[in-house]
Amino acid sequence: GEDPRLQAISQAIRVVPHFPKQGIMFQDITTLLLDHSAFKDVVDIFVDRYRDMDISVVAGVEARGFIFGSSIALGIGAKFVPLCKPGKLPGEVISEKYVLEYGTDCLEMHVGAVQHNERVIIIDDLVATGGTLSAAIILLERADAEVVECACVIGLSDLKPSFRYAANLMESHFISL
Ligand code: AMP
Repeated sequence: GEDPRLQAISQAIRVVPHFPKQGIMFQDITTLLLDHSAFKDVVDIFVDRYRDMDISVVAGVEARGFIFGSSIALGIGAKFVPLCKPGKLPGEVISEKYVLEYGTDCLEMHVGAVQHNERVIIIDDLVATGGTLSAAIILLERADAEVVECACVIGLSDLKPSFRYAANLMESHFISL
């Protein structure tokens, strides 16, 4: 059956209609962060899943992927690597552009943050189309990392058919690569 912790986690996430624009049902995880036990349960569920999978890097997507990703990294004894919006990282970077509904965006990672063949998980708060996580996967694979899984707290069912890596907590399923 479903993990009994998931209901409280789900209830701790505030849904804000029409933010930041008309038609978007914004999933606000800041209210989850105010609920110590729900926040801890999220981190514990991921730590339990990944602690024995020989993961040496947790990559988090700016900005909400930093919050969950860094906590998970500490819990499993892995490094944390931020995947940032353009112009935020001071060192040499590799970048991966991706297409949004309107326009494009880009993720950047410091060169040398990940070594060849390191086993990586990628963390964000939410997957909608999968465009952001797809770019994150490509970025890590270009650095010769092994992407073991992507994980999110929330899965909206907008995944593009081309997106292979649906792993999320709220639908209580994980699909490994
Ligand atoms: P996508 O690339 O379409 O999978 O969108 C996922 C990214 O956009 C994540 O970084 C989310 O934080 C953000 N995002 C997309 N839709 C929402 C939503 N309804 N509520 C909150 N964040 C969202």
